[in-house]
Amino acid sequence: MTDRRYPARAVIRDVGPRDGLQPEEPVPVTDRIRLVEALRAAGVTHIEAVAFVSPKAVPAMAGAGEVLAGIGRRPGERITALVPNVRGAELALASAVDELTVTVSVSETYNRNNVRMTTAESEAEIARIVALAAAAAEAGGAGPVPVDAVISCAFGSPYEGDIAPAEVVALAGRLRSAGVTAVTYADTTGMATPRRIDDLLDAVEAAGGRPADVGLHLHDTRGLAVANAHAALLRGVARFDTAVGGLGGSPFARGAGGNLATEQLVALCDDLGVETGIDLDALIGVAHLIGELVGRDVPSMVAHHGPPRRLPPAR
Ligand code: ZN
Repeated sequence: MTDRRYPARAVIRDVGPRDGLQPEEPVPVTDRIRLVEALRAAGVTHIEAVAFVSPKAVPAMAGAGEVLAGIGRRPGERITALVPNVRGAELALASAVDELTVTVSVSETYNRNNVRMTTAESEAEIARIVALAAAAAEAGGAGPVPVDAVISCAFGSPYEGDIAPAEVVALAGRLRSAGVTAVTYADTTGMATPRRIDDLLDAVEAAGGRPADVGLHLHDTRGLAVANAHAALLRGVARFDTAVGGLGGSPFARGAGGNLATEQLVALCDDLGVETGIDLDALIGVAHLIGELVGRDVPSMVAHHGPPRRLPPAR
């Protein structure tokens, strides 16, 4: 395969310990640390490990500081914490994190249900978080703590329906002006299609951006997550959020299905010759581990059927 339309390398951020476990019954801190260690051992270097949210609202994310203390930081890695507000950012920055993710939705109703703020209020909150992250970095003497803004419902909202790609990209532009270092477009409720991926990337290019600078967070609610990832790879997108085992889904979004399974994307990238640095066999082992931790089979088909290899010749 010498098709040069695909990127040479894709960066995959596994959000399984956060997005994957968030809607589940709480998993003990020690097992959440074990999960992160298993991802590391499979070659995953970008991991969204925790969320600093109210343990009353999301019991499965309690103990974020202990999880971070348990996993520590290693060179060449990026351990990420999701923070919904300034309070969460303060707690995260007091712990060992390499990156913050913040979320805002172009869907007003989703945003209100998710964080009880209007989209404009969330934008103002994100600007305050960016300032905190910069100040924390200065105090610590390290480089600035990057802040990735994840735009949820970027491909449509279960409440408002279609959202114009230009409107989504305009929000991304305002967030970049507010100082976020990256923008990730999330298909929170699995409404994206390859056509909608193309439409959004067209809007990114029309606004002067490049698909190579875009991150995508895909959900498999309607079985199109891999097709969407492939459509994005063809356009040069090289940054993806996925969850080992294909678990996940927002507890606040009606109809949210699991994330694109990390092993499904790695299997696709392996076949296309797109480097990920992740060992597929080891990763499938992690998918079975997360299944054990939540007490049920994971939805990922690659975890069920194994890597796409030929059977040994019949005798
Ligand atoms: Zn997700």
